[in-house]
Amino acid sequence: AVKAQGQHGYRFFTASMHERARARRGIEIALRQALPRHELSLHYQPKVDAHSGRVMGAEALLRWHANGHELYQPDQFIPVAEDSGLILPIGAWVLRRACRQARAWQQLGYAIPISVNVSPLQFQHADFYSWLDDVLNESGLDAELLELELTERTVMSGGDATTSLLRRIKQRGVLLSLDDFGTGYCSLSYLKHFPIDALKIDRVFVHDLTSDRDTATITSAIIAMARSLGKVVIAEGVETHEQSAFLRHAGCTQLQGFLFGAPMPAARFEQRLAAVD
Ligand code: C2E
Ligand code: MG
Ligand code: MG
Ligand code: MG
Repeated sequence: AVKAQGQHGYRFFTASMHERARARRGIEIALRQALPRHELSLHYQPKVDAHSGRVMGAEALLRWHANGHELYQPDQFIPVAEDSGLILPIGAWVLRRACRQARAWQQLGYAIPISVNVSPLQFQHADFYSWLDDVLNESGLDAELLELELTERTVMSGGDATTSLLRRIKQRGVLLSLDDFGTGYCSLSYLKHFPIDALKIDRVFVHDLTSDRDTATITSAIIAMARSLGKVVIAEGVETHEQSAFLRHAGCTQLQGFLFGAPMPAARFEQRLAAVD
């Protein structure tokens, strides 16, 4: 009976694995067409000053309208893009698009930095720096108005060349931030060595902040440590006034989350910039 159960369990497991593999394959095939069919767009989410609420920056987030419908979330299709290598052309498109947008806003008088997420595969690529440099030159955007968001995984994927690449990017004037901080395996000592400007506290911490005392303690400690190292500290996923107040008092520099605005199309973001002018 045990064996039969085991077999049943095994079949069940492989069936769901097959299903997932088929789903990913479906996403990959559709994603291949996404760029040529102009199905990708960027939404922008405000980063606000923790005290004044002023918009201090925008994070560019990829959206995919497959066949005119928003079928897939980035958490579903970014991993597929990463595994298939499609993230290279897609990531290059994101970078170019975001820089052009930031340049357009700069020319309208809204000089706010734009943040772009970078995948490990992009960051590891030997040509990453020259793509970055080309995009900056081509768009005419001041390097200080571009920020790259790297996760701990991305930074750690770069191997020995990481520190020198980060330095080169910094020397070009581009801002660097460490995304989803606290969820990866980046030890605190890296923070000292890597030329990172800002640290983004992952939203899992923010989510539990007001319900779990340990989370509150850890979050406060991360903020204090980052501040003492001279880093800008941003909290992501801020949804409530309670979370906002806690983070402000703990010393967060900037806040980002639905409370201050969900990711929105460029035109809406521009209205928001104009409204507070
Ligand atoms: P991320 O860079 O950490 O982006 C933050 C995510 O949190 C976004 O999800 C955003 O919509 C969501 N978010 C913002 N405020 C709130 C909030 O108050 N509550 C909650 N629950 N969520 C909030 P999104 O847009 O689905 O993106 C998910 C992830 O996909 C991003 O995480 C990023 O890692 C990746 N991603 C998105 N666009 C790109 C891209 O252009 N390139 C690369 N390489 N990755 C991207
Ligand atoms: Mg990000
Ligand atoms: Mg994040
Ligand atoms: Mg994330």
